[in-house]
Amino acid sequence: MSRITRRALGAGIPALLTAPAFAQAPAARLVIIGGGFGGASAANFARRQYPWLDVTLIEPKTRFVTCPYGNLLLAGLRDLNSISFGYERLAARGARVIHDWADAIDPTARTVRLRGGASVAYDRLIVSPGIALRYGAIEGYDQAAEAIFPHAWVPGEGQQTLLLRRQLEALPDGGVVGLAIPDNPFRCPPGPYERISMIASYLKRHKPRAKILAFDTKNAFSKQGLFQDAWNALYPGMIDWIPANRDGRILRVDPAARVFESEFGVRHRVDVGNVIPPQSAGGIAISAGLANESGWVPVDSLTFESRRVPGIHVIGDATIAPPMPKSGYVANSTAKQAVAAIAALLRGEAPPPAPVYFNTCYSHVGAEYGISIVGVFRPNAERTGFVETPNSGGVSPRGDLPEQRRLEALYADAWYGSITADMFG
Ligand SMILES: Cc1cc2nc3c(=O)[nH]c(=O)nc-3n(C[C@H](O)[C@H](O)[C@H](O)COP(=O)(O)OP(=O)(O)OC[C@H]3O[C@@H](n4cnc5c(N)ncnc54)[C@H](O)[C@@H]3O)c2cc1C
Repeated sequence: MSRITRRALGAGIPALLTAPAFAQAPAARLVIIGGGFGGASAANFARRQYPWLDVTLIEPKTRFVTCPYGNLLLAGLRDLNSISFGYERLAARGARVIHDWADAIDPTARTVRLRGGASVAYDRLIVSPGIALRYGAIEGYDQAAEAIFPHAWVPGEGQQTLLLRRQLEALPDGGVVGLAIPDNPFRCPPGPYERISMIASYLKRHKPRAKILAFDTKNAFSKQGLFQDAWNALYPGMIDWIPANRDGRILRVDPAARVFESEFGVRHRVDVGNVIPPQSAGGIAISAGLANESGWVPVDSLTFESRRVPGIHVIGDATIAPPMPKSGYVANSTAKQAVAAIAALLRGEAPPPAPVYFNTCYSHVGAEYGISIVGVFRPNAERTGFVETPNSGGVSPRGDLPEQRRLEALYADAWYGSITADMFG
């Protein structure tokens, strides 16, 4: 019995159903770099739908702490355990999980070199490394600075989010929390504003005289009207959102003095500082030559194959995919399309027909107060980008709608439960 057949049977897949697929399908090696929203979704989907694919997932961490719901930890609405996931079920489903860094890709030999020294061969490669923070883009914000001004935007083992939470706990009542928010494109467009809301939720209960100064590099943001309505209703007088045209751009920080300095040289002292720096595609996408001069990766919008290096498919936040946002939902839905396209290409078939990509971004603004934005997208005819389907998406209605807000917070919980199950099994 072949290795793949044994695996599929071991995973409990009925032999009668899978036998014809094995007869037609070549054994092929799919290697995936990054076990986050894109990569874990791709691995799980590939094992479920294409059991003939030999799947290897390369991810250094043994526990993945999700960014989604990390903001709720700041409010005390979640703990670290409830937003952390292991790879055991993916492994039980037949994916080979290697806990190491991918250090280099050789697209000619079709191999990935691991930090531990080993080399992994692939027939098709998926790269989903997420983002890298552009240290130095804000003067004074280097890696050492994040120990004082946490970003909590790439949670790693959750240490950054926990640090920010501890700093909030130590904040004196009447203290000032500053946030520095980047320009587009960046990971999770509504994320900073959900974070402001969750910090306010904590402060309202524990330090009601504290203030939040949210310095923004933009003049407008996702779900702005809904967020600002909620801030006025739930946290009156606590939040000052300072857009670029009110000197909101933070260009310099001095962590030792706990100072944010604006474009026009105004120095703001903060007790707690959350700096969300500008970003690029994750490091391996840059070093492998997948990214262009923008720092992000251009892809074929039907197959997610890199437009620069054949045989490598890139998904998730690392890609250039506007108007789709850099969200976990998009990473998950595009992962499936990339895997389906890879399976077709490996079988010598045409890529699957043009798909519809969905996105829903829920945000909590209070414990029982949720809002959302929905988008529906397709590849454009030239396969160079994406278009939003007219009249398909939208945002939650504005107004005093407590039952709708309560339900949306519940829908958000349901979304989180199902997407993490779809990633990690
Ligand atoms: C505060 C916050 C809240 C958010 N809330 C939401 C939300 O409510 N809904 C939503 O849809 N999205 C949300 N997001 C966005 C979401 O987290 C990202 O869009 C999503 O994680 C992108 O998936 P990805 O696979 O591109 O990257 P990630 O999920 O970050 O995964 C990348 C993985 O690659 C690994 N990796 C990197 N380099 C290498 C390498 N060289 N070798 C091996 N492995 C490597 C990393 O360790 C990491 O595990 C939020 C983000 C933040 C910051």
